[in-house]
Amino acid sequence: MQQFENAREAALALRPDEPVYCFHPEVLKADARRFMELFPGKTAYAVKTNGEPMVLKTLVEAGVRAFDVASPGEFAAVRAVSKDAEMLYMHPVKAQSDIRLALEEYGIRVIAIDHEDEVAKLVRVVRALDIDPGKVTVFVRIQTKGSAAYELSKKFGAGPAYAVELAQRLHRAGFKVGICFHVGSQIEDPDIYERALASADWVRNRMGFPLAALDVGGGFPAEYGHDPNSKSKPMPSLEEIMARLKADIEEWQFNRVPLVAEPGRVIVARAFSLIVRVLLRKGRRLYINDGIWASLSDSWTGKLTLPARFIPDPAIRQRNGDANSIVPFRVCGATCDSVDILSRPFWLPETIDTGDWIEIGHIGAYSLSLRTRFNGFYPDTFVEVTTPFDQGEAPQSFASLETMAV
Ligand SMILES: *Cc1c(COP(=O)(O)O)cnc(C)c1O
Repeated sequence: MQQFENAREAALALRPDEPVYCFHPEVLKADARRFMELFPGKTAYAVKTNGEPMVLKTLVEAGVRAFDVASPGEFAAVRAVSKDAEMLYMHPVKAQSDIRLALEEYGIRVIAIDHEDEVAKLVRVVRALDIDPGKVTVFVRIQTKGSAAYELSKKFGAGPAYAVELAQRLHRAGFKVGICFHVGSQIEDPDIYERALASADWVRNRMGFPLAALDVGGGFPAEYGHDPNSKSKPMPSLEEIMARLKADIEEWQFNRVPLVAEPGRVIVARAFSLIVRVLLRKGRRLYINDGIWASLSDSWTGKLTLPARFIPDPAIRQRNGDANSIVPFRVCGATCDSVDILSRPFWLPETIDTGDWIEIGHIGAYSLSLRTRFNGFYPDTFVEVTTPFDQGEAPQSFASLETMAV
């Protein structure tokens, strides 16, 4: 992979017409280690957030030993970078053949369920393979309530009384039984974990046997751009969120059981930035070479404020407007689809024009993993960049939280 000091150097050297992902391996290692130091249990990186081999390999180098996986593709991706990393199969709804593959070929012994039919599938596979159920930890996924950019409790999780029933059924079948939850991605309310712990406590107190482990899932918020026009309160830092979570864990006396977390976004968001080119400026609209069907779908559905840095093309000699005036631009994606317009305008210098580049920061989570080949566009060019996005010159720009009509 070609290496550059920063995205500006890469853009001016390559003059790319296709989007270029700038990988920051040292940032990834630092953010993974920071999480592992703060969390008082096992850290299992959620592979779906960004399962690129370079990411998984770098995480293993940083000391990550466990991975949250959901499919045969993810089992294989983890095995390809580590012979002995532990995998936790935390998807509650699974094909029976995938359960068999997980247990038989990949040696997976940690699995999540939220329904009795999933217990039945698991029991069939364990019997067929003659595995001692006492060597398998099954997490019962419980429902949670609260606000996150992505709410998941409508889709997954057992209600409290049903969770007790599932736990007892698993216990009778000889499994070790844990409780897990996943509060959704990019939480917007730090109290959400406390409410989930209260539900977990309710279930534990009625199970009638000791809990083997508690898995608090993911959802830890990544830092995105700062919008000076926004009135919404910024999220507390990971340090503060983790201090509260630890206090809540002690208060509910979960500190006596082994703990697991499944962070994705908070570990990988800052590990990539993206260089995009302005294909056309039309008034206050910018048509760029990426969009919601490629790297920017998560920022669109999650309505994220992304930091952005203007990289002017020095070949443009004549510019109109005031370079110090930062104004909102509606950003349109590369495809022919009419919905391919970002949900938030980007605030950029008034002088930006056709042919310039923009470096969009903090796009490591749910960007590469969600790209499609729609319309024949599939960004897949990578460079390594040594200066972290946040340590370069201050980004002039951000995707604003304010809506606008342009
Ligand atoms: C997506 C997912 C995660 C990771 O969530 P983040 O918000 O990216 O930390 C963790 N656990 C489960 C079960 C998930 O589905």
